[in-house]
Amino acid sequence: MFDIAIIGAGINGSALAHFLSKAGKKVAVFDGNGIAGGGSGAAGAFISPKIAKGGDLKAISDEAFIFSMEFYNKNFPNYVINSPLLHLSKQHDEDEKVRFFKEHTHLHVSTPDNKLLELLEPICKEYESIYLQNSAIVNAKGVCEALLAGSEFINEDISTLTCKDNYWELNNHKALHVIIATGAYKKLLELPYINPRGVWGHRVDIKTSTHIPLNIHQFVSISASHNGLAAIGATHNVHYHPQTSKEPYDIYLGREELLAKASKTINLKDVEILKDYTGLRSGSNDYIPIIGSLVDVQKTVKKLPNLTKGEKYPPEEFLYYPNLSMINGTGGYGFVLAPYLASMLCENIINNRAIDRRLEPVRFFNRWVKKNMLSSRL
Ligand SMILES: Cc1cc2nc3c(=O)[nH]c(=O)nc-3n(C[C@H](O)[C@H](O)[C@H](O)COP(=O)(O)OP(=O)(O)OC[C@H]3O[C@@H](n4cnc5c(N)ncnc54)[C@H](O)[C@@H]3O)c2cc1C
Repeated sequence: MFDIAIIGAGINGSALAHFLSKAGKKVAVFDGNGIAGGGSGAAGAFISPKIAKGGDLKAISDEAFIFSMEFYNKNFPNYVINSPLLHLSKQHDEDEKVRFFKEHTHLHVSTPDNKLLELLEPICKEYESIYLQNSAIVNAKGVCEALLAGSEFINEDISTLTCKDNYWELNNHKALHVIIATGAYKKLLELPYINPRGVWGHRVDIKTSTHIPLNIHQFVSISASHNGLAAIGATHNVHYHPQTSKEPYDIYLGREELLAKASKTINLKDVEILKDYTGLRSGSNDYIPIIGSLVDVQKTVKKLPNLTKGEKYPPEEFLYYPNLSMINGTGGYGFVLAPYLASMLCENIINNRAIDRRLEPVRFFNRWVKKNMLSSRL
């Protein structure tokens, strides 16, 4: 019997496994695609802040950015390449947002000097830009493997998840507490009020004779080059889904699109393709990540039948699955958010510390019930 079973060995499941195993729990992590076999393995894994004017997501991701920079550098320095970041707006509509961020953030940012921009001539000077000295890239797969060092990794897909009297059964395994960290892949439990959306992404590792002096985010993300090696990536395909699309993903077309977008920022010479990586990233309806306990829809509606007539109840009145939590919805910032969210969820599981209400899955429940009561889907 495991104390905790985590389903999904992406960055979210792996970061949580790290904190829980450090807290002395016997943790098993299940994934039939291996470690970082989903969206996490495809990520460029840039550790950068979200450039936005304000709002909850920006506040959360700013805190997470500071947390994760320190976390990776302190605990996993061998998997981190620290490198400054140049963020450029994609179009002039975005200039104001970038300027606003530069003027209001407490992070140490500045305007890049002309020498740097000249390296990227002719395009870049036209756009508003931010230079951030402290930024990094992590080795996506390597860091997931390192995070799992204190846990047992089981290369198996979970197809059945059953709640027994005081434990969970996953295939033939048993655990006291289960965490769903499955990203935008497959559905294990019917949780209709949470509907993470998958966006397909592609990263290509290349060799180039062009020196790329720092990480650059504009139309796509481009890493600094080291010994002529660099990575280009983006999650920009909302149409393709590996489990529902009829046509296979066209890797050549995707690669051409990435290189064409990168060349609008920097003139890459003598490009040799080394390897392609693809995967889904998962975003929530309100773009804010999801961590915490899960409402049992059937039991809650039975307990509170007036829910279907539009009556509102506080989250304390709902019935939750026992010892079942989720970590998901980290969008294009999974490597930035995961350590921060995982440490919070670990505190909740181990010490019962409350989770920030903005992050809990239950935030979607009342709205979902209201929207669906007339169509009698309950
Ligand atoms: C091309 C690309 C570039 C990106 N660049 C960045 C970046 O620069 N910086 C950044 O911070 N983020 C980036 N992201 C986003 C980041 O990768 C995601 O936010 C992150 O990977 C989400 O992690 P996850 O663990 O939730 O999901 P995933 O990594 O998708 O992991 C979910 C895992 O669950 C497994 N699974 C599903 N169902 C089951 C089951 N029934 N049983 C067992 N296992 C199951 C899957 O096999 C999968 O491995 C990028 C994403 C992509 C695709």
